[in-house]
Amino acid sequence: MTSVLWLRRDLRRRDHPALLAAHEAGGPVLPLFVADPALVASAGTARLSALHEALRGVHDAYDGALVVRSGRPEEVVPAVVREVGATSVHVSAETTPYGRRRDERVEAALAALADDGARPPGPVPLVRTGSPYAVTPGRVRNGSGDPYKVFTPFSRAWRDHGWRRPAEEPAGVRWVRGHGSEPLPGADAEARWASSGASLTGVVDEEHALDRWHTFLDDGLASYDSGRDRPDLDATSGLSVHLKYGTVHPRTLLADVAAHPAARTADATRFVTELAWREFYADVLWHAPSSAWADLRPGLSGLAYEDPAQGPTAERFAAWCEGRTGYPFVDAGMRQLVREGWVHNRVRMVVASFLVKDLHVWWPHGARHFMAHLRDGDLASNSHGWQWVAGTGTDASPFFRVFNPVTQGKRFDPDGDYVRRYVPELAHVAGAAAHEPWSVLDGYGEGYPERVVDHAAEREEALRRYSAATA
Ligand code: FAD
Repeated sequence: MTSVLWLRRDLRRRDHPALLAAHEAGGPVLPLFVADPALVASAGTARLSALHEALRGVHDAYDGALVVRSGRPEEVVPAVVREVGATSVHVSAETTPYGRRRDERVEAALAALADDGARPPGPVPLVRTGSPYAVTPGRVRNGSGDPYKVFTPFSRAWRDHGWRRPAEEPAGVRWVRGHGSEPLPGADAEARWASSGASLTGVVDEEHALDRWHTFLDDGLASYDSGRDRPDLDATSGLSVHLKYGTVHPRTLLADVAAHPAARTADATRFVTELAWREFYADVLWHAPSSAWADLRPGLSGLAYEDPAQGPTAERFAAWCEGRTGYPFVDAGMRQLVREGWVHNRVRMVVASFLVKDLHVWWPHGARHFMAHLRDGDLASNSHGWQWVAGTGTDASPFFRVFNPVTQGKRFDPDGDYVRRYVPELAHVAGAAAHEPWSVLDGYGEGYPERVVDHAAEREEALRRYSAATA
């Protein structure tokens, strides 16, 4: 009755429905992580280093029983099942396009295990219990059984649907031991990351996730609604990277918020709403897998974009990637992205808007750059965050709402502290003037670059292209 617990985006011990199911199958449990070359190759240093940290946490939390194998999951998982004579494989359901296809392949391979006298005697089920979400994507539907296309009604229905309480932590799990494991993947990436000094998101494992969460509950939740838009303050939970790797489950967060003295305040409601955005985007991707890298709504398919590899846009795109656009709020965000692998939500919106509407570059080019550098890089939230800004996604926000990088900076970083933290060439410019170095005498004295485009002119150009595409 041995079970394999195949871990993916659920790298924790607590509130783990699939671990509970594997334990309740009655026999010993072998925790397995498959280093899938397709995923490892696309992860980049930021995500691979986070994965390494999270797996180290699992290794410790699972008493050293974690087994790592590299290879194609449809080959590795059945092979491990054979080795240990397992009768079931347990997972948290995967909902991304690649993850769903991969799991179908593994399920078919397990079902095809022959009754050839070897252990186990015949087909083995892939048992899906829980998912990385409070409500598994695909479940929340409107009265006609259709998916929601707009956030507000989705979030209302999501709350009405509700979610289970966190899963109990199983006591007395018997681990299968003595199975050869490869080293944890991502050690090189982790060494590179650690030596770069980038530490804002902290260590990615369950203990650090819960520490960070409890600190936020004590010190951050009560001012979340008013502070969450301020990148100069440490006013958000910083949990996105933990939710990405499942070092904490959203149901744990929702249960703790519901039990908090501030549960009925605007701050708590706002925090739950932000978690709902994550669930909404996963739901949208579940229903429309092609929206990972293509416009969700075809209405703007005729919009004229610039090629980021050609002409003056190539230099401007490079300036955007490297934080040298000459717009301080944009440059601070792009430098924070590369340095720390995390960017504040307000700044993500502004830098995305700048690429799409000031440089006229199609959103997937920016989304790819984000995925290469974000530690919390998550396909659903990233692609749909970009599409929200680009006007091609779920949002009611029309294309013609163009963020002004200067007024956004002055409003949400009123003293210029965020800009000065990431742009040393502006360290000598005091106060909000850091958002407008052209307005002070010595603004360019320390080598800060001139603006690559004129925002007012490019805003007009964006609107012209929008009108032409929708005429
Ligand atoms: P908090 O404010 O503490 O929010 C709590 C949690 O709610 C977050 O951890 C996150 O899971 C969820 N959340 C908050 N805002 C959003 C949102 N707008 N969309 C979806 N979920 C949200 N988030 C990612 O996790 N991965 C990404 O790759 C990602 N890419 C983005 C790209 C763009 C262009 C934009 C505009 C947003 C993106 N987001 C992404 C959403 C958001 O910026 C981050 O989740 C947030 O900044 C993480 O910081 P936090 O954990 O302190 O958030």
